[in-house]
Amino acid sequence: MKHYSAFAVAREALRYHTGWERAWRSPQPKKRYDVIIVGAGGHGLATAYYLGKNYGIQNVAVIEKGWLGGGNTGRNTTIIRSNYLQDPSAAIYEKARSLYEGLSQDLNYNVMFSPRGVMMLAQTQSEIRGYQRTAHANNLQGVTTEWISPQRVKELVPIINLDGPRYPVLGALWQARGGTARHDAVAWGYARACSAMGMDIIQQCEVNGVRTEGGNVVGVDTTKGAIDCDKLGVVVAGHTGQLAEMAGFRLPLESIALQALVSEPIKPCMDVVVMANTVHGYMSQSDKGEMVIGGGTDAFNNYTQRGSFHHIEETVRALVETFPMVSRLKMLRQWGGIVDMTGDRSPILSKTPVGGCFVNCGWGTGGFKSIPGSGWGMAQLMATGHSPLTEAFSLDRFKEGRFIDESVAAGVAH
Ligand SMILES: Cc1cc2nc3c(=O)[nH]c(=O)nc-3n(C[C@H](O)[C@H](O)[C@H](O)COP(=O)(O)OP(=O)(O)OC[C@H]3O[C@@H](n4cnc5c(N)ncnc54)[C@H](O)[C@@H]3O)c2cc1C
Repeated sequence: MKHYSAFAVAREALRYHTGWERAWRSPQPKKRYDVIIVGAGGHGLATAYYLGKNYGIQNVAVIEKGWLGGGNTGRNTTIIRSNYLQDPSAAIYEKARSLYEGLSQDLNYNVMFSPRGVMMLAQTQSEIRGYQRTAHANNLQGVTTEWISPQRVKELVPIINLDGPRYPVLGALWQARGGTARHDAVAWGYARACSAMGMDIIQQCEVNGVRTEGGNVVGVDTTKGAIDCDKLGVVVAGHTGQLAEMAGFRLPLESIALQALVSEPIKPCMDVVVMANTVHGYMSQSDKGEMVIGGGTDAFNNYTQRGSFHHIEETVRALVETFPMVSRLKMLRQWGGIVDMTGDRSPILSKTPVGGCFVNCGWGTGGFKSIPGSGWGMAQLMATGHSPLTEAFSLDRFKEGRFIDESVAAGVAH
């Protein structure tokens, strides 16, 4: 694979861009792999990448029923932060955030990580208490966040209205090194690096059966035929329940649509990410100038990957209170993705009742930010049977009542 560099860009400009090669191969599946990962979203691709990079396991296939990055990874609003309350969450999200800092160099692919700062507004007394508590917890965890005053909020976000009609802004939890990254580029960068290691990324190939023998996984059935493997990683977000059923076990997960929308592009007006969880809305400005807007999940379980009018109305109505300029914006497009929610709003990275079969799921509304850390930990778990990053997120916690309650950090926020 050719190295991307400023020199390569200049060279290709001179020869009319005829020398670029395909970023990843599109091979036919082999009969057998050491590891199969189902799902070519960010988490599946990152798991494959760190299996190869950190453990030398490169006889790997990543199997995707659609196109790579076409699930939630290509549909999210790209907020990256690590200001969670519980220690295991802070550890994995901060690992991910710190990997994002150097990811473009590591993958030799510009993922456009932009640590522009993420702000979570406190608009009720209980939010003040909750976010101040999180700031203290983050200090103990080594995650840099701070509680800031309404005046500081206004300095950072001049377009904000501090005196909302229902909920004035009373302060905010601020993470200066949080931000955004280009979602497709994260998937594409990992895919290119996996392909360069000789891994097979097989798109348009749906897994429709999991084969086991003596309680251990031996392979999968797909629309391109049966493929054998020693280990299987199920990393399919909102479709995890379906894959688990194929393997013969159940998971404590619900699948729900989460929607987002963008406005027409406008001149730069806000260079941080703002989340207003009480009124249920959040906003950032993309590099193209569109205001990227999201809100809460649908109120019912479903598998519809599309937007709906009531969501635009509810989210925009809420945001107008805090950002009156939103009332003059035209909305361009909306979409939805199927997220997988656990009861404690924390992910599952775990062995399963089937030997050799692992799951990485339950990231719910907030798993884009964790992709590098999740891939790192999941690869360690699959390669060695144990990872300090994933230990607390095992399935056992639901039997033992060891919940990792992140309902405040993950409520509506992403
Ligand atoms: C609207 C929206 C906004 C969001 N905003 C944010 C945010 O701002 N910040 C944040 O951190 N997170 C956010 N998220 C959450 C984040 O997008 C997800 O947690 C994350 O992308 C999950 O990645 P994944 O790789 O696990 O899943 P996905 O990217 O969904 O990948 C799973 C893949 O598995 C494939 N698959 C499913 N079934 C099969 C099968 N049977 N055979 C083969 N392949 C299969 C799917 O086609 C899919 O490509 C948002 C999500 C949505 C929908």
